[in-house]
Amino acid sequence: MDYSDIQTIEHDVLVVGAGGAGIRAAIECAHHGLSTGIISKSLLGKAHTVMAEGGIAASLGNVDSRDNWKIHFRDTMRGGKFLNQWRMAELHAKQAPERVRELEEWGAVFDRTDKGLINQRNFGGHRYPRLAHVGDRTGLEIIRTLQDFCVHQGIATHMECTGLDIILDDNRVSGLLAYWRDTGRFVLFKTKAIIMATGGGGKAWKVTSNSWEYTGDGLGMAYRVGAELIDMEFTQFHPTGMVWPPSVKGILVTEGVRGDGGILLNSEGTRFMFNYIPEKFANETANTKEEASRWLEGDKEARRPPELLTRDVVARAIKKEVEEGRGSPNGGAYLDIASRRPAEFIKRKLPSMYHQFKELAEIDITEVPMEVGPTLHYFMGGIRVNSDNQETNIPGLFACGECAGGMHGANRLGGNSLSDLLVFGKLAGDGALHYVNSLTSKLICNNEDIGKVIKNATEILNRNEGNNPYLVHEELQNIMQNNVGIVRTGEELQIGLEKLDKIKSDIKKVYAHASAQYNPGWNEALDLVNLMVTSEAVTRAALLREESRGAHTRLDFEGEHEDGLRYNIIIKKTEQGMLAEKIIRESPSRELEEIAHASLDELEKGKNGE
Ligand SMILES: Cc1cc2nc3c(=O)[nH]c(=O)nc-3n(C[C@H](O)[C@H](O)[C@H](O)COP(=O)(O)OP(=O)(O)OC[C@H]3O[C@@H](n4cnc5c(N)ncnc54)[C@H](O)[C@@H]3O)c2cc1C
Repeated sequence: MDYSDIQTIEHDVLVVGAGGAGIRAAIECAHHGLSTGIISKSLLGKAHTVMAEGGIAASLGNVDSRDNWKIHFRDTMRGGKFLNQWRMAELHAKQAPERVRELEEWGAVFDRTDKGLINQRNFGGHRYPRLAHVGDRTGLEIIRTLQDFCVHQGIATHMECTGLDIILDDNRVSGLLAYWRDTGRFVLFKTKAIIMATGGGGKAWKVTSNSWEYTGDGLGMAYRVGAELIDMEFTQFHPTGMVWPPSVKGILVTEGVRGDGGILLNSEGTRFMFNYIPEKFANETANTKEEASRWLEGDKEARRPPELLTRDVVARAIKKEVEEGRGSPNGGAYLDIASRRPAEFIKRKLPSMYHQFKELAEIDITEVPMEVGPTLHYFMGGIRVNSDNQETNIPGLFACGECAGGMHGANRLGGNSLSDLLVFGKLAGDGALHYVNSLTSKLICNNEDIGKVIKNATEILNRNEGNNPYLVHEELQNIMQNNVGIVRTGEELQIGLEKLDKIKSDIKKVYAHASAQYNPGWNEALDLVNLMVTSEAVTRAALLREESRGAHTRLDFEGEHEDGLRYNIIIKKTEQGMLAEKIIRESPSRELEEIAHASLDELEKGKNGE
């Protein structure tokens, strides 16, 4: 067939996704003279990045001068239970301060300290106040700044344009087929390189802080052309999502509430986190209320309160309290900042939280505690990339931001995503630049490949009967929520896989019989294919990891196993279907290993080579 009448747009580099990672990557490419385009499912500025609340982690040392990249690196590795790609965690910790200052030069206005420096707040798992922030609306400031800067770089932004599949020429990237969401018309992007920056896939779960855009599209597109996924078993359940009213269940309550002094209580009024301090963190965590209060007042000798343990620990603790009958009326715990801080402080530092609870739950958080519970929040896993240039195993395909895996290991620290977007967005841009400049031959988009993508997409419109895509999505969410949740067993995962198999065949028969124009049923049906890849990948990887580590808890394999440190799990496409397999981890350099295991005293005093 001849597809020459399809709209065609050419760029040197096409960035898929206009969140922090995508825009930062595009800026790097355009800055070096490449013709650069960005496509996004929604409007420019409406990505997840805009929703980020608490802040961006970087060891600027503005509030506590003892902080430095080594301690940030150490915190990140410990938070990730030592499964992070060592080199990624190193690059991230070293380069985050530079990326934050650059953002400031481009116009971002962060909250200030008394001395006029960028202010930094405490967050779970970070040893020192490290999160640069703008109240609890940090993401808005970051995206606004990047967006402004990007439009002045001559980057072409194609909004409400959804990528469907990558086109390869001799196993190298040569294009991407997409459709305009309003008209339903197809558009072919001819390009030498693609940077995937589509974020995660939280919409595979019923209770999630993620928006409609998070359907794992980048993971699906990359997987289908042979890219590998890594660490997919590690899905982060944020401990504090709203639990009531039902219509807003899952919406995030920022960790900033606990960073600014909020405490967790059960229905008996007990501050229960003191009962859940893991041995590994005992030396660095306050074990009395009195010490925790001293820390809040700024006593540098006091240790951090247990509410600021890593997210996996806090989420499991809340779940346990509920299971043992000490939960709040709507199945969560109480998060109390009202009794800890004056109303004026809460309204100034946490304005979005104040409004969110006022508007959505008719609760004044300056007077009463909030009710909170775990919500699926973030994907540590994603597309496997080279740590230095973000290239995948498919030449010309790069990935950065939440859709790329490896940086956070088994658990991400709050604030480390926004810095990840900027650090690895830039590196992906650099990587694509070098790749494009090294190309010598012309690339072709094969008609047959284009035809296949169009056929798969239009079959849904042409069927006269079949499955309702919304109901199939709901069923998939039930499976992931019940079988691949915050705690898992081999038996439940196996049953989940069998149920997913049925969903896979249901997806082949979904229909949205109507015109492609303004057809949300069709949009939903197309998303399902990627949600399916994402869900299967998480479940298969979760079955293979027979231990409990970070965000992955197996009731049938309690605790971390020594052997679990030796491998990461990757997912790849084979002729027999999806395969999950263990790959042996690279050994770190001696310097990094020493830093990760050094005492804080050594690192604060600048030992270890500095
Ligand atoms: C409520 C909330 C609060 C958070 N707070 C913090 C915080 O304080 N600190 C922190 O570090 N992290 C925080 N996070 C996490 C962080 O915001 C995200 O991990 C991060 O913004 C992801 O950025 P990204 O650029 O990878 O993806 P996004 O910002 O989500 O951008 C993804 C882009 O991809 C596009 N896209 C997706 N699929 C397609 C497709 N098929 N075709 C075309 N475009 C597509 C989308 O339209 C969007 O433009 C928070 C997350 C949430 C949900």
